[in-house]
Amino acid sequence: MLIGDAEPAPPSAPACAYCTGNEGSSPQAIYSLPFENRPGAIRVFAHPRPLYTIDGKADRRAEGIYDKMRTVGAHELIVESPDHESHLSRADEHDIAHLLRCWALRIDDLKKDLRFKYVTVFKNQGDVAGQEIKHPHSELTASPFIPRRILYELRSSQEYYSRKERCVLCDIGRQEEQQGLRVVDISGNFLALCPFASRVPYELWIVPRYHHSSFEADLLSRGEAMELAGILRRCLARLEQVTDAYHLVLHTSPNTNSRREVPGYWATLEEDYHWHIEILPITQTQTKSYSIKEAYYCSTSPESAAARLKDLPSSRDPLSQRSLEFQRK
Ligand SMILES: [Zn+2]
Ligand SMILES: [Zn+2]
Ligand SMILES: [Zn+2]
Repeated sequence: MLIGDAEPAPPSAPACAYCTGNEGSSPQAIYSLPFENRPGAIRVFAHPRPLYTIDGKADRRAEGIYDKMRTVGAHELIVESPDHESHLSRADEHDIAHLLRCWALRIDDLKKDLRFKYVTVFKNQGDVAGQEIKHPHSELTASPFIPRRILYELRSSQEYYSRKERCVLCDIGRQEEQQGLRVVDISGNFLALCPFASRVPYELWIVPRYHHSSFEADLLSRGEAMELAGILRRCLARLEQVTDAYHLVLHTSPNTNSRREVPGYWATLEEDYHWHIEILPITQTQTKSYSIKEAYYCSTSPESAAARLKDLPSSRDPLSQRSLEFQRK
């Protein structure tokens, strides 16, 4: 859990520092990745209100039964486009592929810092999802600990593998494909599904149909990310017709080079863990999903969520798909 006393944000800032033309007021970019054949780029900045700061040691120390540590880490803002009104669900898939590549490059880079046990990317879309900065962006965090939910998932995967000698997500993917009940989208290498134990209505996972534990190693070795960009864009386009707010979190392998790792603890990680993207939509007005002590109640079954999402248009221009359906009738 991260605790901070954030000052309330001042009433609406005059101009967006991340928009084209306002570069003078934006901070120095850490990194930038140009768009192909067009002006503009994906730019990475230090987050203006970071959850973690990069300098110093974590200094874990005991305080009674609790471990206390300074919030050492990295928190980056990945500005997805120079266009303030851009939306991943309508973006050019080449640009989304660039963004995915940028995520992989930044994670790979920060994993070289041995203080960090976990590096990941997330995106809060919409006010109710806690999107603080209006300009389209995703965020990267590197922390000296593994977030609790990821740790739980890593341990479950490890435990499943130790019993069955198979990866749990490979098994789930195969079964979902056979049953087809919770599948929303499928391509040669990727599967989008509403997980069996969905925590919120319309929860959506994007899972590779082949085994790989690390998003960044996988993406950087593949050389292109167009197929993943395509299924991600289609999923978001469908989802945005149900709600415009969601959390997106990338689940990838932890930093096994981290200094404080017990040698051998992640011995089967490459075989047992399977990277994936989790999207948690916020549909608060329609449902009463809530969680009590890790027990989740979800008011829409993953089967009906998948059926509805599958039927929603996913083209970049919903109008053209609608007219297409009209012609078919
Ligand atoms: Zn802007
Ligand atoms: Zn697997
Ligand atoms: Zn996960």
